[in-house]
Amino acid sequence: MHFALCESPKKIMPTYEYRAVDLGKSCDRCRSGFEVIQRITEPELTRCPHCKNPIYRVIFAPAVVIKGSPITETDKKIKEYEKDGKWSHAAELADKEAEKTKREDLKTRALENYKKAGYNFDKYDT
Ligand SMILES: [Zn+2]
Repeated sequence: MHFALCESPKKIMPTYEYRAVDLGKSCDRCRSGFEVIQRITEPELTRCPHCKNPIYRVIFAPAVVIKGSPITETDKKIKEYEKDGKWSHAAELADKEAEKTKREDLKTRALENYKKAGYNFDKYDT
């Protein structure tokens, strides 16, 4: 008989970080934050198991990864150009990157920036 399956639920137990609400009323443990392994269904802790003072769960912001539009060096560069109002630069860069990566969002961005740069697309529309 194999019991391997009984072990697997442990692996999906997420770790939560808790921190003291009031640093003046906390122990060393919750002052700097501590991690607790909990099931998703388990209620959130509200008090430190150590000093019984209020704690809160630290929400980790997931890395910003929007599907289809990863933040790349080029994205940053385009953003910089846009910020400086260098629309044609931003457009060209977005255009090139769109060709390379086949990203639709960059294509749209390139078009928008071309328009802002004063290009008249009515003439070139296909
Ligand atoms: Zn504590």
